[in-house]
Amino acid sequence: MNILAFGPNGSGKGTQGAIVKDKFGLDHIESGAIFREHIKGGTELGKKAKAYIDSGDLVPDEITIPMVLETLAKSKEKGWLLDGFPRSLAQAEALDKALKESGMALDYVIEIDLDRDIAKERIMGRRLCANDNNHPNHIAFEAIKPVEKDGKLVCRVCGGELSARADDQDEDAINKRHDIYYDDKTGTMAAVNYFKNKGDAKVITVDGSKGIKDISEEIMSQLS
Ligand code: AMP
Repeated sequence: MNILAFGPNGSGKGTQGAIVKDKFGLDHIESGAIFREHIKGGTELGKKAKAYIDSGDLVPDEITIPMVLETLAKSKEKGWLLDGFPRSLAQAEALDKALKESGMALDYVIEIDLDRDIAKERIMGRRLCANDNNHPNHIAFEAIKPVEKDGKLVCRVCGGELSARADDQDEDAINKRHDIYYDDKTGTMAAVNYFKNKGDAKVITVDGSKGIKDISEEIMSQLS
């Protein structure tokens, strides 16, 4: 099964993606997380991408597209849930072409709708676990609130150290990322509409203002 997950930063897309990939045994491919791994590991790619990421700009396509397509190809047998890519119409077209060439089908498009102001508020409270990128932690949501240990907030799943992403605490960077997401001419909404209009994959649209459990139940009931 191959799935594209769309939703603005702050919509809970990563949390829902982790639930779906666990349930169906898929590889969870997150373009942003791949970049952060490269930055942590000090690779050439990471060095090239860092300034763009810190400021909320898109990393150029000549770096991003081959990186994501290579990762996808490795997950061909297992199936994948792709999150964070495509983020533009050009990336959607490149993905569509690559899928055709490699004989991979797109089965589902999950779209999490969320008002821009709410998404912004949510971004600032999320925290990253040092041990596992798929451990959701958010200081404003009871269901995924970090726990306190020795006077410090740690990951609610594994007790790992938590940090906030620099681009999540910078309002200009958040605004830029949302400008790109909500742009339906050439940005991410244009990519969403591209796959919706193609009509090959089943589209699952959910209301991101609901609770985590309600959203995941709704998504699960439509995936088969
Ligand atoms: P995310 O974790 O999805 O919020 O991504 C963090 C940052 O990584 C973005 O703000 C971009 O700078 C970069 N990035 C992630 N995915 C892409 C993509 N598909 N195209 C270009 N840049 C990306």
